[in-house]
Amino acid sequence: MSDKNSYQPETVAVRAGSEHSQFHEHSEALFLTSSFTFDSAQQAAKRFIGEEQGNIYSRFTNPTVTMFEQRLAALEGAEQCVATASGMAAILSTCMGLLQAGDHLVASQSIFGSTVNMFNNVFKKFGVETTFVSATDPAQWQAAARPNTKLFFLETPSNPLTEISDIAAIAAFAKQCGALLAVDNCFCTPILQRPLEFGADIIIHSATKYIDGQGRVLGGAVLGSKKLMEPVYSFLRTAGPTMSAFNAWVFLKGLETLKLRMDAHSANALQLAQWLEKQPNVARVLYPGLPSHPQHALAMKQQKTGGGIVAFDVKGGRDAAWRVIDNTRMLSITANLGDTKTTITHPATTTHARISPEARAAAGISDGLIRIAVGLEAVLDIQNDLARGLGN
Ligand SMILES: *Cc1c(COP(=O)(O)O)cnc(C)c1O
Repeated sequence: MSDKNSYQPETVAVRAGSEHSQFHEHSEALFLTSSFTFDSAQQAAKRFIGEEQGNIYSRFTNPTVTMFEQRLAALEGAEQCVATASGMAAILSTCMGLLQAGDHLVASQSIFGSTVNMFNNVFKKFGVETTFVSATDPAQWQAAARPNTKLFFLETPSNPLTEISDIAAIAAFAKQCGALLAVDNCFCTPILQRPLEFGADIIIHSATKYIDGQGRVLGGAVLGSKKLMEPVYSFLRTAGPTMSAFNAWVFLKGLETLKLRMDAHSANALQLAQWLEKQPNVARVLYPGLPSHPQHALAMKQQKTGGGIVAFDVKGGRDAAWRVIDNTRMLSITANLGDTKTTITHPATTTHARISPEARAAAGISDGLIRIAVGLEAVLDIQNDLARGLGN
């Protein structure tokens, strides 16, 4: 396997982690089995005490899940990957494995809504406090750190404004504070951004998004050094938010086309963003691949492309934004992203509706803001679908 890991990313995505059974199947097999048998009582005993490697029970390990973990680890350049039932299960397992009561977390205020809820409402109950800071101002991270700060947590680009966090700068502060840096790499995937290369310690994925890429199943992953993943895996194996074998099989196949899809999503998104910038009823376009993006240079240092997410402000506030959404005929009105089908979302009244209007305004999420997760349809058709409601 290790020789396969030195290949180019598109080769790794197709070849790494692939193991065949006694039947020499060419495509990775789906092992739908909850448990595994042993040749003898002695072998069972050896497996249980860890004297012999091998599968015991699918909450611990499953060959299809292991193939997925090895392939994603090779793509991220990580020593180990732990697959989980969802992206949220990845965040839960990371924190349950690495934190304890009395620890403190510093997190970007521009992270996924359920992650904010988890930090504010779940971990708080167990004595872990979180301070939220600006995604784009590294100095705030250092200022927020306390002697008991154990983890820095960020997402870049952020949702929905595509703000870019400086991974290397924040990783350096984390190191100074004796804390770990976890990066949710869901929007970029390892094809566009490899956070470990910029000093991050842990990578989180919602595989539900681009890794599946076709909106079928939920899954997640945590990646890092063997040492850091040991307590994460230990929690997962005991508590049980593990990835199902079926979902791992879907994700393995998803990884094989990830490079092609991310390149195509990115090319479509750039073209759409350039077109949106020319529309008279669009006040501003936020896309990291556009030179007009406030952090374009940093984005291009960390990412290979601008990615697949474009946000824009329509002139005329909520009514105008809803008019654009309601006049589409092809785009999917949904909050999901990372799909072959283009999705359109009005963050102020859906994903970010529970935040107070003042906090939303302070964060820059205006009533006229629309988020597009650009799919793989022809850009011309996406443009025509948006043009109707834009009144051109
Ligand atoms: C969707 C998402 C998650 C949560 O993942 P699930 O698979 O839905 O649990 C976490 N982080 C980001 C950035 C996401 O977009």
